[in-house]
Amino acid sequence: MQKRVLVTGGAGFIGSHLCRFLLGKGHEVLCLDNFFTGRKSNIDDLLGRHDFELIRHDITESILVEVDQVYNLACPASPVHYQYNPVKTVKTNVMGVINMLGLAKRVGARILQASTSEVYGDPKVHPQTEEYWGHVNPIGIRSCYDEGKRVAETLMLDYHRQNRVDIRIARIFNTYGPNMLVDDGRVVSNFIVQALRGEDLTIYGDGRQTRSFCYVDDLVRALYSLMESDTFTGPINLGNPNEFTMLELAELVIDLTGSRSQITHKPLPADDPTQRQPNISKARKELDWEPEIQLKEGLGQAINYFHQALTA
Ligand code: NAD
Ligand code: UDP
Repeated sequence: MQKRVLVTGGAGFIGSHLCRFLLGKGHEVLCLDNFFTGRKSNIDDLLGRHDFELIRHDITESILVEVDQVYNLACPASPVHYQYNPVKTVKTNVMGVINMLGLAKRVGARILQASTSEVYGDPKVHPQTEEYWGHVNPIGIRSCYDEGKRVAETLMLDYHRQNRVDIRIARIFNTYGPNMLVDDGRVVSNFIVQALRGEDLTIYGDGRQTRSFCYVDDLVRALYSLMESDTFTGPINLGNPNEFTMLELAELVIDLTGSRSQITHKPLPADDPTQRQPNISKARKELDWEPEIQLKEGLGQAINYFHQALTA
């Protein structure tokens, strides 16, 4: 059955892929964005379609639209961007989430919140399961995002218990792919752009910290399965469990781009998590979901995209 779906942050990296995926499934999409890190060019091809609508709006202000589902993705995700205006990041994750939950409550919509592996902080349990409560600095430079997303989860559960709002919570692990900004600041885009420009790849710290990278198409499939699941609310880990050091990632990017770039080291930012790997047993069981695109293949797609973005 065709549904009306609101995607906040729909002009951003993941949101733009999600809008396209939902339209492909036959749904009507309302894409809402304040264009902080999102761009019209990410959704250019969708403008003008009868089943797609673009709303310039900031979720920290309330809005009333009649929809069946809300994917709340609005929030800058790169440390560079969420630390640019940390108070605004907190407002987006608190006032913004309250506004979206209020909307879901009023119109009876199901709402999915994009949470993050950052709720585990610098984890002492490895790999991370959904039961782990995390190890988060409440007053550090990442707190506006980490604690913001933790409050967002709290609000989701409280609206669910208090007002019976139909909720879904996705804990997304590092995701990459086309439509990331050239100056996004996250590691995959930084390394690829640096390699393509022949600049040194900037490894923060000794490069032995780990992340597990998920290709955006895999992630979008999982978000959709979670939203459509009638049995499972989450929180649920969504990511690719294959774990890499930043040194391994840098070497792979240099190899795949054929770049003559060297590696240079920069200071490790405060509170940078030392290791991160999702346990995705729940997603496998509850959503019958498995990431299909491994790092080498996904990086190839991302390299093609950034190559075009840099030469355009
Ligand atoms: P992104 O920065 O590319 O997209 C975020 C979008 O939200 C942008 O289009 C931005 O303009 C918009 N936005 C920000 N604040 C807003 C506000 N107050 N009102 C309206 N729009 C606003 O980031 P992304 O990687 O696409 O992440 C999307 C969501 O997924 C975020 O909520 C992020 O926290 C979450 N997430 C992403 C990752 C990842 O690795 N990409 C990992 C964990 C969680
Ligand atoms: N990082 C790096 N060089 C960069 C950007 C990031 O070495 O140019 C490191 C960063 O310190 C972190 C990892 O890569 O250890 C992932 O960083 P990112 O900002 O992509 O995501 P997050 O830290 O939020 O997982």
